[in-house]
Amino acid sequence: VSAEERELLLSRIRDVADYPLPGVMFKDITPLLADHQAFTVLTDSLARICTERGATKVVGLEARGFILGAPVAVRAGVGFVPVRKAGKLPGATLAQSYELEYGTGEIEVHAEDLDAGDRVLIVDDVLATGGTAEASLQLVRRAGAQVAGFAVLLELGFLGGRERLTPSLEDVPLEAL
Ligand code: AMP
Repeated sequence: VSAEERELLLSRIRDVADYPLPGVMFKDITPLLADHQAFTVLTDSLARICTERGATKVVGLEARGFILGAPVAVRAGVGFVPVRKAGKLPGATLAQSYELEYGTGEIEVHAEDLDAGDRVLIVDDVLATGGTAEASLQLVRRAGAQVAGFAVLLELGFLGGRERLTPSLEDVPLEAL
């Protein structure tokens, strides 16, 4: 994105202190979604990354990764695959668990939605500790597909997500707009 577009995107992200827990600065993207120009800049930028990486599918991470990933897939001319929290998908799934600050999380994908020929761009709104991202990389690979890229709107660098992800990324580019 250009410097101007970057400013536009940043200006439409709202910081909400102590949400959902004390000490967390929540990055609320709903003002960006409500602004047609900003949402278009975001969608077009992610779709360009999708095309550059030669992706054949966009995988979106629940829940805001769905909102961003679906228009990106349509724009780039590829299919969309949701990665959901455990227990939400009705068909045969692959599951991957990961550690949270307290306890563990689990995400799932429909096994039949990805195959060995697929190159996947994984999309989410925010990269924080990287736990969700790491689990999604493993899940996509276990489904037999190749991860072609990982793209987020915003990276919270101080949480060290990129460092945590680097070994699992191998040479997959991680882009934060
Ligand atoms: P993590 O697994 O720690 O990288 O967390 C990433 C997931 O949690 C993403 O799906 C984000 O949407 C969400 N998330 C984590 N921290 C924040 C935050 N400060 N603001 C908004 N979303 C967040």
